[in-house]
Amino acid sequence: MQRIALLGATGSIGESTLDVIARHPQRFEVVALVAHRNWQKLAQQCRAVRPRYAAMHDPAAARSLAQALAGTPTRVLSGNDDICSIASSADVDTVLAAIVGAAGLASTLAAARAGKRILLANKEALVMGGRLFMDAVRDGGATLLPIDSEHNAIFQCIDRDGATCDLRRILLTASGGPFRTRDVATLAGVTPDEACAHPNWSMGRKISVDSATMMNKGLEVIEAHWLFGLPRAAIDVVIHPQSVIHSLVEFADGSMLAQMGNPDMRIPIAHALAHPARIDSGAAPLELARLAALTFEVPDLGRFPCLGLAYAALDAGGSAPLALSAANEVAVDAFLGGRIGYLDIARGCADTLARCDVREVDSLDDAVAADAAARRIACTVLGLPPASTMTSLAA
Ligand code: NAD
Ligand code: MG
Repeated sequence: MQRIALLGATGSIGESTLDVIARHPQRFEVVALVAHRNWQKLAQQCRAVRPRYAAMHDPAAARSLAQALAGTPTRVLSGNDDICSIASSADVDTVLAAIVGAAGLASTLAAARAGKRILLANKEALVMGGRLFMDAVRDGGATLLPIDSEHNAIFQCIDRDGATCDLRRILLTASGGPFRTRDVATLAGVTPDEACAHPNWSMGRKISVDSATMMNKGLEVIEAHWLFGLPRAAIDVVIHPQSVIHSLVEFADGSMLAQMGNPDMRIPIAHALAHPARIDSGAAPLELARLAALTFEVPDLGRFPCLGLAYAALDAGGSAPLALSAANEVAVDAFLGGRIGYLDIARGCADTLARCDVREVDSLDDAVAADAAARRIACTVLGLPPASTMTSLAA
């Protein structure tokens, strides 16, 4: 029995994970469920899987959850410290890290230090933690398995012996999102619902906007750099609108391996949960004969400036990727809330990156400080009141 803590249980990845786990009651035991403040949904999930612990980031929501779960075996906890305790608890073997954004860094880092098996969906934690996070994985003796579909695909292609020395490069595929072919002159006026209408994947709203701007792919380039220890020059991005090939690896002899499947996150989740075994994910099989074509394009950095910003942040190193990700969170939150326009996202990120000091990130305190500084700058350049967009790492 693998004992699992699911961080971000009420989200899109959280729900897909519970769906896969429910298909294999003999293999997995859900020990803890964690979410931000949707206590009604977490209560429902707790009644179904009866975890030992449930935690809400928001204390008022935790109180409501405790009332709703009175008389059940679930003990209710609250706040970031309790969430970190769950992530490092001796009762837990595997931490599925699916909190969205910087809010997931502290708990994911705690899991790494405690030597857990970490199934990582929360790419922002790795982008922002960078070397600090990878050092914690190594020093804590943790195992890191990627859930992000592209990284999971690459992992599957190189998993034979884990060696990356005979790799020439990796190619991350990107769908191009809802605005791949839209007239660029009309982008200023797009609405949050248009930006969230992803052609192939159903996901949380933040990552959906990131997919529209291709900041998501930029964050994934940085994620791949840390996960696979590859230089920027060995990480390419190719647009593949059908989202059937989830990424590719090119070896020294010119061979390319790709991982394919329907765009259903239950596939990489099932892969990482059962690794090195294979289990049913519930995803429909891919019917090759029904695919009209698989096509590929070079991304246009004029249409998708956020991808170029991510490459620039990776080149700058230190706290630059962290600052970019923090600025992007501020901007996307403001866009989803109707306070800024779509094109302001890239502009706010570029201006923040240009203005922030690049420092080393050697501790969680360094990360919290760099995060707060970047959020302050982002609010200033976007004309937002400082308090309205903070979802601080330290919260
Ligand atoms: P979502 O918005 O649907 O869910 C986010 C979850 O995080 C929710 O359960 C929410 O309650 C929880 N959360 C937010 N702030 C929290 C806090 N401070 N403390 C505790 N819990 C908190 O997002 P999602 O689409 O499921 O994405 C989750 C992560 O997985 C993101 O980092 C995203 O980039 C990554 N990811 C998602 C997909 C996908 O298909 N959805 C694919 C690849 C990677
Ligand atoms: Mg992805």
